[in-house]
Amino acid sequence: MAKAKKSKLDGQKNSKSAAKRRAKKNSGKRPSAGGGTLDPTNPKRVAAILAKLDEAYPNATCELKHENPFQLVISTILSAQCTDVRVNLVTEKLYKKYPNARAFAYANPAELEQEIRPTGFFRNKTKSVIGASKAIVEKFGGEVPRTMEEMLSLPGVARKTANVVLGTAYGIPSGVVVDTHVLRLTRRLELTKHTEPKKVEQDLMNILPQNKWIQFSHQLIWHGRRVCIARKPRCIDCNIESLCHSKDKTI
Ligand code: SF4
Repeated sequence: MAKAKKSKLDGQKNSKSAAKRRAKKNSGKRPSAGGGTLDPTNPKRVAAILAKLDEAYPNATCELKHENPFQLVISTILSAQCTDVRVNLVTEKLYKKYPNARAFAYANPAELEQEIRPTGFFRNKTKSVIGASKAIVEKFGGEVPRTMEEMLSLPGVARKTANVVLGTAYGIPSGVVVDTHVLRLTRRLELTKHTEPKKVEQDLMNILPQNKWIQFSHQLIWHGRRVCIARKPRCIDCNIESLCHSKDKTI
């Protein structure tokens, strides 16, 4: 009798944990109009989004002007909380005065602060620019390194800058660049539920093919600047509209 009661209880426990596992697995899914479930990260939907981005932005690339990987490191550091247009205006003069890593490494900090002031947060950025340049000269012989680990050892360089430089300058898909546009658009497109860039990047690395990691960010940044703008997305001009279920949609 006691045995039968125990096995009944065990059975109830097992079915409860299976239900919990199912609920967890389906947490990204929700009912679809057709009565089934819609999984926003379903590989078919992701592939359809990638195809639409290729169609709309076949030549998307980084909009920070640079002539070599080192300049891209500096421009990316300067681009934090600043537009690429403004960074390009500042660096046009800057790269003439400081032609290489050595010139930046031994720059006069007070002068450099004033030169990069229009990009904002100029004191911290000056420290990062000089620190990263010194490390590139002293630890890497003046060459920007080619691995994530080495990139992250440079002062002022975090995953976003490292991914921008490794992807754009060297064509190495080390991860997915998650900037403010990628953060906003991947949530609108329900490709992630996270808000923390590291977790968003991890989600994207899990659902995107690695050979799309570099281009996907460029395309999403272009889409975020031209069509899916923050305050009033131009959904009428959006070629992903049929795949988007965002509550921010304007049509
Ligand atoms: S439909 Fe609108 S909200 Fe959705 S991706 Fe396009 S522009 Fe953005």
